[in-house]
Amino acid sequence: MSLATRDRLENLRRISTESFDLLVIGGGITGAGIALDAASRGLRTALVDRRDFASGTSSRSSKLIHGGLRYLKQLQFKVTFESSREKNRLRRLAPHLIRDLPFVFPVKAGLAGRAAVTTGLWLYDLAAGLPGGMIHRKIDVAEAARLVPGLAEEKLSAAYVYYDACADDCRLVIHVVKKAAEFGACVANYAEVVGFDDDRTARIRADGRELTARAKVIVNATGVWCDDVLRRRTKDAPRLVRPSKGVHLVVSRERLPLEAAAILQSPEDGRVVFLIPAGERVIVGTTDTDYSGDIDHPRAETKDVEYLLGLVNRHLPAAKMTRADVVSTFAGLRPLMNEDAENPSKVSRDHVIVDDGILTITGGKLTTYRLMAKQVTDRVCRKLGVKRKCGTHRIPLFAAERSDDALVRNYGSEAAKIADRTPLIDGLSYVEGEPEYAVTHEMAATLADVLARRMRVVLFDREQGRGIAEKVARRLAPLTGWNVSEQVEGFEREIEDYPK
Ligand SMILES: Cc1cc2nc3c(=O)[nH]c(=O)nc-3n(C[C@H](O)[C@H](O)[C@H](O)COP(=O)(O)OP(=O)(O)OC[C@H]3O[C@@H](n4cnc5c(N)ncnc54)[C@H](O)[C@@H]3O)c2cc1C
Repeated sequence: MSLATRDRLENLRRISTESFDLLVIGGGITGAGIALDAASRGLRTALVDRRDFASGTSSRSSKLIHGGLRYLKQLQFKVTFESSREKNRLRRLAPHLIRDLPFVFPVKAGLAGRAAVTTGLWLYDLAAGLPGGMIHRKIDVAEAARLVPGLAEEKLSAAYVYYDACADDCRLVIHVVKKAAEFGACVANYAEVVGFDDDRTARIRADGRELTARAKVIVNATGVWCDDVLRRRTKDAPRLVRPSKGVHLVVSRERLPLEAAAILQSPEDGRVVFLIPAGERVIVGTTDTDYSGDIDHPRAETKDVEYLLGLVNRHLPAAKMTRADVVSTFAGLRPLMNEDAENPSKVSRDHVIVDDGILTITGGKLTTYRLMAKQVTDRVCRKLGVKRKCGTHRIPLFAAERSDDALVRNYGSEAAKIADRTPLIDGLSYVEGEPEYAVTHEMAATLADVLARRMRVVLFDREQGRGIAEKVARRLAPLTGWNVSEQVEGFEREIEDYPK
């Protein structure tokens, strides 16, 4: 099954005329993972998203593929052990996409505090299977300051390096959707489930038309929207999700010339914030606050930006970061379980699966998507009365050897299909062939899909993204039939969610 943008209409036609074993609602990492698992078990599978794939939380995470060191502190051992195992699996299945990263952990605690950190780091290494060459070590303060220039050395009592990994979240989702399509899943973006006739029949709105999709089982994998979807079935369905907002800043690597990632703790509220080098940029985040605003458009507010800049300046006073250093910001909503905890940071990061006729899955992490998908698809198979084993731990995601080539990092074995490698933007590693690949192989339906999610230009330099928007739209117009000014306007509207 192809994932060219022009195939979307044919896929919608199939969704409205054929009968499926499974309809997955939501094309974030959770839904994409389920579609891949189900399709690879031979189930007739359809996947729809009301906007673009990964346009929700799955493009706005901290991008860590990690065991979650801080979950150990919260005694969430199961989450850490499962996540570490999944991290290792992903490192095998998509080695080009998953980047191992050393993290500097500066510590200001006394003897007892340092002993607790050391115990935690040993447990963390154990959870990761004691990976060769990536066991934590104590470093001296001078080395810490070399790896994280600007670190306030005089305040440190110790420093450690431990290892985790990260990946471009959006690219991961697109890899999984593409692989699901390769296994025969029928996928369409910009197709919103607006209601249900019964537990096997969903009404979908796409391109101004309403169509009906039929499947023996329906899965609701819509993250923070899952309650909205459930309420389109039952008006007073109980709330499963408690949205928590997390904000990130993107700054230039020249301003924060990190040699390693870093984990910093707020002395006031104990929150952990990461500094993650990503090519020419550094991602700083995240906050964690209860959220009751518009779930379609979470945005970084002044107080979020000030909180993060304040924390960086406290730990790295020499950096003297100001608002002017921020290249862009992004905010996402964690679909946390609706627990009673006072502080959202304390709510479990585990996931929950609820069956009330349709299956709903929510919570969880980017890192554990494959495991979540396995559990949901096992339930789907039970409902269908079929026995099919999960094989996703053996399905490579366009795997390619790790490389310094940005195209290989982002597209894996597909990189060879991107022919025109003329640089697209000064100072950033994008090439002219990428936009075309996005519409011919990755179902990018709008200019914003191309620049914000397939290529991530908006994330790494919002203004440069604006600078090339019209040129890219013009180039793609003969292939897509786009109205150039409409696309540029749509793009401008969408990047309001990434204020500087
Ligand atoms: C700030 C932040 C940082 C994080 N950092 C990390 C991290 O470093 N590592 C990690 O492992 N995890 C991290 N997470 C968690 C992880 O990002 C999420 O658990 C995961 O992305 C959720 O994916 P999802 O598919 O469930 O939801 P989403 O990605 O939100 O997908 C839901 C999809 O459903 C679609 N949808 C909604 N309603 C409908 C409808 N009616 N019809 C059709 N489609 C619909 C939406 O358009 C959306 O695309 C972080 C989360 C946040 C918020």
